[in-house]
Amino acid sequence: MRDTWTIAIHGGAGTIRRDELTPDKEAAFRAALHAALQAGGAILDAGGSAEAAVIAAAMSLEDCPLFNAGHGSTFTAAGSIEMDAALMTSTARAGAVTGATRIRNPILAAQAVMRATPHLLLAGQAADDFAASQGLALEAPAYFETEHRRQQLLAAQAAQTVSLDHDLPAKMGTIGAVARDRNGMLAAATSTGGMTNKRAGRVGDTPILGAGTWADSHVAVSCTGTGEAFMRCAAAHEIAALMRLAGKSLAEATAEVALIRVPEAGGRGGLIAVDAEGEVALPFGTEGMYRGWWRAGATPHTAIHQEQNSPRE
Ligand code: ASP
Repeated sequence: MRDTWTIAIHGGAGTIRRDELTPDKEAAFRAALHAALQAGGAILDAGGSAEAAVIAAAMSLEDCPLFNAGHGSTFTAAGSIEMDAALMTSTARAGAVTGATRIRNPILAAQAVMRATPHLLLAGQAADDFAASQGLALEAPAYFETEHRRQQLLAAQAAQTVSLDHDLPAKMGTIGAVARDRNGMLAAATSTGGMTNKRAGRVGDTPILGAGTWADSHVAVSCTGTGEAFMRCAAAHEIAALMRLAGKSLAEATAEVALIRVPEAGGRGGLIAVDAEGEVALPFGTEGMYRGWWRAGATPHTAIHQEQNSPRE
C-alpha cells in the first residue's frame, strides 16, 4: 500500500433533481469537481502531503461560485454570510474557524489556526482578525455574495425553512476533501456557508471536530447535510469509532452513519471518507451529492447522482 495515494471530494449533498440539471449545468459542475481533483491529486502524485492536497482541493471549490463555501456561500436569515471551515490530519493536528465573514479562503484560516495557535477553533470577528494577522486575503462582503444565493434566501424565507442549499431552486453545495498521501498520512477538510436562512450565529457541523470533519490514523471524513443531525450523532467520529472499536470496514461504517445514524438523528446528507489503505467511500442519503475521487494510477471520476460504477456508495 506504500506509494499509493487517494483523494475524494464533495460539493454538497441534497435534492439534485435530474430533470433540472441541464447538460450545461452538469458540465459546469463536473468541470469544477474535476479541477478540484486535479488540484489535490497533482500534489499527491508529486509526493506532497494529504494536508496540502485537501487544502488545494478545498480552495479550488471555495473559489468556485457554484458551491456553498467561500465565494458563493449561502445567506443567513439576517442577510449576512457566515462561513465555517475545519482541517484535521491523522496526527491529530487540527484547526477550524466559525462565523467568518471576510476570509477569502476559510480553509486557509483553519490551517493557520492549526499551525500558528495552541487552539482548535476561532469564532467570528476574532477569526477574521486572526486571518488578517496571518497575512491571509480578506474580502468585502460583496465578494462572497451571489444573486442565486439571494434568491435561495428569499425562497427559504417564503417557505419559512432552514434549508440545505440543494433543496432550493439553485443546486449547489458545501464542499470537502479527504486524502491519503504516499506516506500513508490522512487529512480531511470541510468548508461551508452553512444552511440557507440559518439564524445568524448558528454553528453547524462543519467546524466541529468529530461531527462534520474528522481524521485519525484509521480514516479521514468530511460530511455534508443537515448539520444539526451530524452533530447529534457525532457522525464523522462515529465512523472512526465503528472502524476502530467495532471492526467495521470503511464501507460498512460510512453506510451505517450516512444512511442510518444521520436520518435517526433527524437529518440527511452524505459524506466522503478515505481509510489508511487508500480505500474510498462516498455514501449519501439524498437524491444526489456532487463528488469525485481519484487514485494513483487510475483516472479521476466525478458523479452527481447514484451510479453503478461508483466505489462503495
Ligand atoms: N452541513 C452544513 C451545515 O449544516 C450544510 C451543508 O452541508 O450543506 O452547516
